[in-house]
Amino acid sequence: MSKKVLVLPGDYIGPEIMTEAVKVLQAVSEKFELDIELEYGLLGGAALDECGVPLPDETLARARAVDAILLGAVGGPKWDKVERHLRPERGLLAIRSELQLFGNLRPAILYPQLAAASSLKPEIVSGLDILIVRELTGGIYFGEPRGIRTLENGEREGFNTYKYSESEVRRIAHLAFDLARKRDKRVCSVDKSNVLEATVLWREVMEEVGKDYPDIELSHIYVDNAAMQLVMQPKQFDVMVTGNMFGDILSDAAAMLTGSIGMLPSASLDQEGRGMYEPCHGSAPDIAGQGKANPLATILSVAMMLRYTLGSAEAAQTIEDSVSAVLDQGLRTPDIFSDGTTLVNTTQMGEAVLAAVLAA
Ligand code: NAD
Repeated sequence: MSKKVLVLPGDYIGPEIMTEAVKVLQAVSEKFELDIELEYGLLGGAALDECGVPLPDETLARARAVDAILLGAVGGPKWDKVERHLRPERGLLAIRSELQLFGNLRPAILYPQLAAASSLKPEIVSGLDILIVRELTGGIYFGEPRGIRTLENGEREGFNTYKYSESEVRRIAHLAFDLARKRDKRVCSVDKSNVLEATVLWREVMEEVGKDYPDIELSHIYVDNAAMQLVMQPKQFDVMVTGNMFGDILSDAAAMLTGSIGMLPSASLDQEGRGMYEPCHGSAPDIAGQGKANPLATILSVAMMLRYTLGSAEAAQTIEDSVSAVLDQGLRTPDIFSDGTTLVNTTQMGEAVLAAVLAA
């Protein structure tokens, strides 16, 4: 049976990087005889311009009906002045929550060829391969009650609620352990159980679920230490699993270890493993339309989609190897350019990956 993918190019550099990613997806699809059907839809500013809302009903209905979604990026200055509830980014948050995409996977991989691009010493980051698994639909970002209230003494007080139910922790734990099985078989759970009761329960449930995975090594770390270790000795980690807020912060720090936001893919999965795949970066309005955007994060998001939702690890590996081969050839978009390498534009980078895929 064919698998359906909804392509949402989005805004500014979104369509530019998506053109290259789709070329690569179509090439592996033919090469490995994957029966993949592509549909296109509108999200973000593009949807607002066309339909008056950032997430049209039609896009949502299609999103529910497909196996996977490939998203470029949304937002930009053109829509800075629209009402808050109509902002392009609202469309993105809405589609994530409507589809219950609770598990956010953010790999931080540093290709050895790009070790010089990191702000850390090459020997500390070269060959880095961490997978951060962040719970995306619970925790303090969604907990009720929340708000700003006025106390009896007239002073205002802001408050939020940090809570996780057992079932919420259990499902993200299973996801992390299952993913570790396909990697180096180590899970490090990040919490603050010395201070926050919610994460005492988090740790207990992680331990319980860990008993179902005797082949996986489970360790725990406090979030403050995790931040320190990430910049000191990042290669010690394999899979890191954590709640929404800690994951938000740690995954950005881990991303920056790799030096270039143009290289980082991500996935957000639901309970059935269906998912939305997108680069970690935004719509980069400052470089849109100039051929400067690095399409590799989106191309690597296609690889994640093949591995985690479309069930073709072989095709995923071919894309990842092709990206590595292109970096070996010295080809670089401006964001990863350094002396002695060859500057290419968005299309040339996409075409080079395509050629490597076809030659593989
Ligand atoms: P950004 O990620 O778009 O850009 C930050 C910097 O990184 C810019 O200098 C940009 O040129 C560069 N950059 C980003 N992607 C690149 C790529 N593929 N190749 C080369 N350089 C790249 O973040 P921002 O400027 O803060 O946000 C711009 C818009 O994107 C805003 O409207 C924001 O809300 C939106 N945004 C969307 C998403 C998303 O769609 N998932 C994520 C973050 C930001």
